[in-house]
Amino acid sequence: MSALDLPPAYPWPEGKSSAFCFSMDVDAHSPWMWNNRHEVPQLLSHLEQRNYGPRIGIRRVADMLKRLGIKGSFYVPGAVAEAHPWMLPALVEAGHEVGLHGYFHELVQQVSDEEFSRVLESSIEIFERQLGQKPAGFRSPAWEMTPHMLAEVKRHGFYDSSLMGYDTPHSVDGVTEVPVNWATDDAIFFKFLGGGDPAPRSTASVLEAWVDEFEASQRYGTLFMLTVHDWISGRGARTVMLERLMERVIAAEDVWLATAGELAAHHRAHAADRDAVTPEIPTTLLEHPAWTRQ
Ligand SMILES: [Zn+2]
Repeated sequence: MSALDLPPAYPWPEGKSSAFCFSMDVDAHSPWMWNNRHEVPQLLSHLEQRNYGPRIGIRRVADMLKRLGIKGSFYVPGAVAEAHPWMLPALVEAGHEVGLHGYFHELVQQVSDEEFSRVLESSIEIFERQLGQKPAGFRSPAWEMTPHMLAEVKRHGFYDSSLMGYDTPHSVDGVTEVPVNWATDDAIFFKFLGGGDPAPRSTASVLEAWVDEFEASQRYGTLFMLTVHDWISGRGARTVMLERLMERVIAAEDVWLATAGELAAHHRAHAADRDAVTPEIPTTLLEHPAWTRQ
């Protein structure tokens, strides 16, 4: 035994040796609202580009998932559910999971603890009003978290899917965490809003990168958490690329294709004690004895 030995394999369900989750953060126009909350510009291009998501993008991806028989996890900001009241019921009717994703896609760094708690309650209320029940999970806008947010997520009994301290389900301060991964997020490759943004990557290069990620998740027995956005991956060639990736996933019989809610429930039932962390944010380096010694 060495301290460098890998931990025992994650206990996936019988016959499965890794897992895959298809998730969509249905941001639509909500980040535009948040970024322009103090002064709304009389400009249409970004708003229209984002509104493509609820109009066509989410439907194109949902159609692809339906043809392949895949259930995904869709995280919907309260403001998006409010603007498109058909969305949450239609997703649930199609068998998908829906979860929280802020109200105005508010960024953690820009809201107080009190404001976060207030808009979280508003988000829960809109889910209850439109679906008759609370969702099971929370995903933070832009994947940032604070100790206060984690405490609130715990108080409501949600699982979280915003952090990446492990590549299998685990728990953070008692909250079941279904980890994300920047390398398998479409925004870092394709997000392009004009101006000086770098040109979006080709679908062929992203498919190649994600096939590498998929093979690595099979090799190491980890979770492949795919995260796409309605207004980004609902564009034709990207949805076709996603379909090619999903066909590979379906063909691999030892891969558990599950929603994040199913992954969280499995973790609680079969691996609750495993990889339970209580992270501490260190005090400033400038108070460290190695720095202050005379
Ligand atoms: Zn988002």
